[in-house]
Amino acid sequence: MQKAKLTLKTETNHTTAIQISDFITVGGQDLWIVGGPCAVESREQMETVANRLAIAPVQGIRGGVYKPRTSPYDFQGMGQEGLEILADVRDRYGLPVVTEVMAISQIEAIAAKADVLQVGSRNMQNFDLLKALGETTKPILLKRGLAATIEEFVMAAEYIMAHGNPNVILCERGIRSFDTYTRNVLDLGAVVALKQITHLPVIVDPSHAAGKRELVPSLAKAAIAAGADGLIMECHPIPEKSVSDARQALSLDDMVELVRSLKAIATAVNRSIPAGVATVPRLSFV
Ligand code: PEP
Ligand code: MN
Repeated sequence: MQKAKLTLKTETNHTTAIQISDFITVGGQDLWIVGGPCAVESREQMETVANRLAIAPVQGIRGGVYKPRTSPYDFQGMGQEGLEILADVRDRYGLPVVTEVMAISQIEAIAAKADVLQVGSRNMQNFDLLKALGETTKPILLKRGLAATIEEFVMAAEYIMAHGNPNVILCERGIRSFDTYTRNVLDLGAVVALKQITHLPVIVDPSHAAGKRELVPSLAKAAIAAGADGLIMECHPIPEKSVSDARQALSLDDMVELVRSLKAIATAVNRSIPAGVATVPRLSFV
């Protein structure tokens, strides 16, 4: 890690908390828990999710509107229409929005509507995209590449920071292995290492790591116990009907139960889960 200048700790206690919204930070005492579907599919879907999760409580909502799909024939995301839905849900529920940016041409429109810009695993080393995101001020959620080493991951964060944006959140989301039982292998060793060597917040995505919903709650708990600063997890009002990543989506009931069950683990490792938004509006479509 010789060449990294901006990502590494300068002293043992060096940590950076990143402001996500007026009241929400990641990397400090509070955990940052984000839930939501893999893809934005409709206004009703996103409002149903926000309505349940706001009181879980989560501190962010996710949903892809530009989706990196293995097949070009699969649903590619709602695009701009999905961004409008995300922005409305954010305004109504006070939940910061996390969504993926796949191309430089999408940055301006996404930055106008979302609070956190996600760089997906498949783009972790899209250096032109990283440089362009370095020129924005929005927090960037940088997901580890499918087969990226810890050093490559850190250097990708270094690209964003070297181009002017200090607000980088690292996300361990599982790496490829020989075993197909789980979709990927959740590398908690990387979480511990990244927390030791970098000052950046490190969160975990147990959904893409596991690929199976029944594995998600225990991996989420293990991640918090290992020192992760937060979680990003997929859920859906009707999980099996998800247009993408259906097998790993939690039901909303299971997601709420999981967030509540994290409290004891958070307390054990001297972290807290901040309270949710004070009021939850009526669903707009009923
Ligand atoms: C996602 O968050 O929906 C996603 C595509 O994740 P990853 O880039 O980690 O595969
Ligand atoms: Mn997904």
